[in-house]
Amino acid sequence: MTTQTDGLMQDWALTADKILTSAAAQFPDTRIVVRREGGDIGRSNYAELEQNARRIAHALHNFGISGSDRVATLMWNNYHHLLTWYGVMGMGAVLHTLNPRLHSGQLAWIINDAKDRILVIEKGFTGLIGEIADKIPSVELILIATDDVDVAPIGNIPTKTLMEFAGGVSPDTVWGGFDENRAGSLCYTSGTTGNPKGVLYSHRSNFLHALVANQTNAFGLSAMDVVMPIVPMFHANAWGLPFIAPMAGAALVMPGSRLDGGSVLELIEQEGVTFTAGVPTVLQDVLRIITERGSAPETLRRIVIGGSAVSTDMVRAFDAFDIRVIHGWGMTEMSPLGAISMVLPDEAALGNEEKLARRCRQGRTVFGVEAKIVDEAGKVLPNDNKAAGALLVRGPAVVKRYFNHQKDAVDADGFFDTGDIAKIDEHGFIQLVDRSKDVIKSGGEWISSIALEDALCSHPSIRRAAALARSDEKWGERPIVILEVEDDDPLGTSDVIEHLRPLIPKWWLPDAVGFAQLPLGATGKIDKMKLRAMLDGSEGPELIPTVPVKKETA
Ligand code: ADP
Repeated sequence: MTTQTDGLMQDWALTADKILTSAAAQFPDTRIVVRREGGDIGRSNYAELEQNARRIAHALHNFGISGSDRVATLMWNNYHHLLTWYGVMGMGAVLHTLNPRLHSGQLAWIINDAKDRILVIEKGFTGLIGEIADKIPSVELILIATDDVDVAPIGNIPTKTLMEFAGGVSPDTVWGGFDENRAGSLCYTSGTTGNPKGVLYSHRSNFLHALVANQTNAFGLSAMDVVMPIVPMFHANAWGLPFIAPMAGAALVMPGSRLDGGSVLELIEQEGVTFTAGVPTVLQDVLRIITERGSAPETLRRIVIGGSAVSTDMVRAFDAFDIRVIHGWGMTEMSPLGAISMVLPDEAALGNEEKLARRCRQGRTVFGVEAKIVDEAGKVLPNDNKAAGALLVRGPAVVKRYFNHQKDAVDADGFFDTGDIAKIDEHGFIQLVDRSKDVIKSGGEWISSIALEDALCSHPSIRRAAALARSDEKWGERPIVILEVEDDDPLGTSDVIEHLRPLIPKWWLPDAVGFAQLPLGATGKIDKMKLRAMLDGSEGPELIPTVPVKKETA
């Protein structure tokens, strides 16, 4: 006998088609609820979704899509997006999610880099694609997900409705039956720190990521849950939820384009949502409304917040409504989940503030992610919550090489440098200090912009805060902060400094304070690159006045 099983165990490829087929068999009637573009509510279930996804697969096949051809989507979280997601992956082509918040030039760049053959878009994005129609030569067909009967061609590109393309086609088609290492989906990083880079996931990596992210220590979803992914499907696969919900048999509620707190809350309450996930900006709006009215949706128990750091205040405020914030950290390159705030047996013995501090860290790595921090020479640093270094990761759902790049993005041991600087405590909880590009180095020591922003956000009048480095002759760099405050709340520089004084080391106090509406990037995070450009006057309608902090107050 060899060390292999010699075919004694079955080959059952870990592919996306199986996720939907099994949901259709095991949970055929489980709800899929969608807020449509016009605002009305549509309803379906997993059995129907599977049949209609197969129709799309069939129509793509008829069109001549095959192998690793890319089909791109430009849609919010809705039924047609789910259909296309599974239709494309189910027939073995590559589903490429595009982010509609990117400006048209960036979109064209990404479509050209991916050489997408078909674009599936919702009607609202017709204008956006119209702007670039003559700059995306690889696109042979545009499909519009709309109830309209007729659509006009966009530029010179043939255009049809999705119904026209797939509505009359039989669901009997080639479905799955390929290797699990085949490319399944493609997602570009949002380019907050440079040019967007494509991450090409395999069916296997998506499948394993979904299993990992739904461990009880992580999302822990079951058939009893009603899940609303607020995080868009184009933002790092909606953190795996379009795979995880059907795997778990959880109902899905798709909020469409209406992502303001009021609309999201309305849907949560109408549909009995138990679990949601998103970046802090949207959930902040939800929190504001439930705080104002003094009541939260009865069914909502857990919210995964990630993408940027969640503030201690936010966790505390949701706690007061008995809603548990689960802080997660990850990145497009990790499919995306890397770490999540887990409950460990020793948590019961911790005091409230200690518990809160732990939960506000970025969490422990999930099963299937190996992580370490290293110094500039690559030496592994201890997990003592003091040493901070570059956070490196390795695992079956972590990128090895970017799409269309010539060189691997991992070191000789297979570790990928996340570009984040972190500390890890003795229990394995990761605390992000900064993105390496955002770090503030004053007198050779790091000031964590994340920690400084957290301290600022605990002021009731401060809605959002951004801490940036400004070069300084004496110290190398010094922090300055730009604040977005609640409407009608006048706040002076000295108020800010007095608020910070008891919360942070003295040398972290900012040298200047400015007030502005903070620019958000394509995934809802504060866009520090743009903010820097606004500050140095190279971009933006107006300069942000930063007021130097007077020596006697600093
Ligand atoms: P992009 O890199 O284009 O911004 P991603 O969503 O992939 O898109 O961003 C990943 C980065 O976001 C991480 O490397 C990290 O810097 C930041 N991030 C993600 N989750 C958190 C979190 N919980 N706290 C702080 N930063 C986070």
